[in-house]
Amino acid sequence: MILYNTLGQKKSEFIPHTEGKVNMYTCGPTVYHYAHIGNLRTYIMEDVLEKYLRYSGYDVTRVMNITDVGHLTSDADTGDDKMLEGAKREHKSVMEIAKFYTDAFFEDCKKLNIKTPDVVEPATNCIDDFINMVSALIDKGYAYFAGGNVYFDTSKLDNYYVFGNMNADDLEVGVREDVDSDENKRNKTDFVLWFTKSKFEDQALKWDSPWGVGYPGWHIECSSISIKHLGEYLDIHCGGVDNAFPHHTNEIAQSEAFLGHKWCNYWFHVLHLNDNTGKMSKSKGEFLTVSLLESKGYNPLVYRMFCLQSHYRKPLTFSYESLDNTAKAYDKLVKRISSLKNDGEVDKAKSEELDGKFREALDNDLNTSLGLTAVYDVLKAETNDATKRYVIEKFDEVLGLDLTKAEAEEASDLDSEIEELIAKRQQARADRNWAEADKIRDDLLARNIKLIDTPEGVKWKKIN
Ligand SMILES: [Zn+2]
Repeated sequence: MILYNTLGQKKSEFIPHTEGKVNMYTCGPTVYHYAHIGNLRTYIMEDVLEKYLRYSGYDVTRVMNITDVGHLTSDADTGDDKMLEGAKREHKSVMEIAKFYTDAFFEDCKKLNIKTPDVVEPATNCIDDFINMVSALIDKGYAYFAGGNVYFDTSKLDNYYVFGNMNADDLEVGVREDVDSDENKRNKTDFVLWFTKSKFEDQALKWDSPWGVGYPGWHIECSSISIKHLGEYLDIHCGGVDNAFPHHTNEIAQSEAFLGHKWCNYWFHVLHLNDNTGKMSKSKGEFLTVSLLESKGYNPLVYRMFCLQSHYRKPLTFSYESLDNTAKAYDKLVKRISSLKNDGEVDKAKSEELDGKFREALDNDLNTSLGLTAVYDVLKAETNDATKRYVIEKFDEVLGLDLTKAEAEEASDLDSEIEELIAKRQQARADRNWAEADKIRDDLLARNIKLIDTPEGVKWKKIN
């Protein structure tokens, strides 16, 4: 498989450290709020990568952290504690917030057919591991204690800007925006490994450490959790492109200083989801979540397909109009597949030939849009329906779109929802609540469902 590697900024053949095995690490969510669909784009594409590696025969172990110790609203060591903000907002404890939004995250993942990683490790489980790693970094001369905090000394590295796509100028911008720049740092790029002093007095979760009561910096989480579960050699580290700097840059700095050798060979970064105005932000306009899409009548898998239609290394522009187009395409595709008959033996030779096209697409830096084209090619292929269905079922192990089972489920869900609304409307009419009855009829009409009053009762049909 050819993969683009942010480290070196070019495509190359993927070769794991140990033949046949892939160690994969994913930066998990900070669980202080619902996940934005922009973040979920990253998890969808990582899921496809993992599933395709398995499809290709690799034995994959994937680990993800859950950031449940407060990390800061800015990715630099400044800003407010996100977890604490969430707790204040909702009048809950930090651990209640963490539990609630961890569950919410995995519910979203389930709806999007994102497989749960083999190991999911909350940061609060690993405080001793973080302390051990920070101690080792001090012993090796890569970290120093100043003003109550432990910092990583980036001047000890030969090359701090490992990805090459960031430089000191980019950092200047960040520093300028940061009014409270940290006087204790020896170098601008140094970052905190352990805090005992910070801007906020009321940090909720604190632990004892050799440097005083405090809490870990964010970056140490991922290095430590990855090494704990996947050992000294990591094959693929994934994340959103936002994380490349400073988060992943700092992960590499501390991991390689700690291990004394190269740590991770491939860095897989997924580009942003934008709206027409540019980058989507959580603070502007409508906060887009899976539940919001569902409340507007979208099947979450339509959003998954929307993501698969474009390449992970290109920014993707979101609009309801494009999502509607995907919804139509998805419905049509699922209908076509569900009409495939069970007409005999699977043609093995033909199925291998069709599979070859699919692999060719995904082997080329995970080209999922061509992977989807391969599904249409199967439908057009000259072979029997049983072969087509068999091949599409295989592809769907990677695509995760429920291509061979979606329609039946959806239809029955829709049926029962409409029947319920019709019953509600009948009750409203019996109560002479005409406004409510009309509203239900109009809402359904807006979803292209027309109600027909007949002597035998209310019937409905789909219109276009
Ligand atoms: Zn991370």
